[in-house]
Amino acid sequence: MPLDHRLATDTTDGMVVIISGPSGVGKTTITRGIERSIADAVFSVSWTTRKSTGIDVEGVDYHFCNDDEFESMKAQGGFLETAGVYGKKYGTPKAWVLEQMKRGRLVILEIDVVGAVTVKQQIPDAFAIFVLPPSEETLLERLRSRKREDESAIQKRFAQAKAEIEHARTSRVYDLFVVNENLDESLGKAIKAISVEREKRRMQTR
Ligand code: 5GP
Repeated sequence: MPLDHRLATDTTDGMVVIISGPSGVGKTTITRGIERSIADAVFSVSWTTRKSTGIDVEGVDYHFCNDDEFESMKAQGGFLETAGVYGKKYGTPKAWVLEQMKRGRLVILEIDVVGAVTVKQQIPDAFAIFVLPPSEETLLERLRSRKREDESAIQKRFAQAKAEIEHARTSRVYDLFVVNENLDESLGKAIKAISVEREKRRMQTR
């Protein structure tokens, strides 16, 4: 895709970083921490048909759309990948991600395992991190402590989380598994791994 104009900040070391993990594991905090800590990191804002919660910000957390808008974008080849999560549709905007890559940015995709598998097929050198809870018990406790849902919904999320972890382990897509016992440490590990990988690639292209 030709770029309309070059920017002074453009470089040649674009890299896609995928962050996945079950809900309640601290994945979003780690994702946003990476975005804040790495100067040229940009977060890919997905499209979704799920309803906005009170804390979501349109255009920052998601682009909220209806089913017709989602399907029309999909039909035009507008998504790099799509997935159905909890009965709702999610998609990564293709043109935006490819443009940021070409500008040399670190592009962060916070997506599920199904999406990660698709992205790795298209961008094999995407660097994929999966965030794990310290134990199943901790995950269940964290889901309960969010006080967002009743016990049956929590149990459903817990079962889905365990299935997602299993899928991640067998997918062979993830370059790094981070056990999130302590948020600062996990964020530090993720940033270090990304920086080492990026530096390795810079050296290889020299
Ligand atoms: P939530 O609705 O709780 O924000 O997200 C539910 C799940 O969908 C999370 O695992 C999140 O990472 C995943 N997700 C968010 N955006 C996308 C996307 O564009 N593609 C895929 N495949 N998964 C996404």
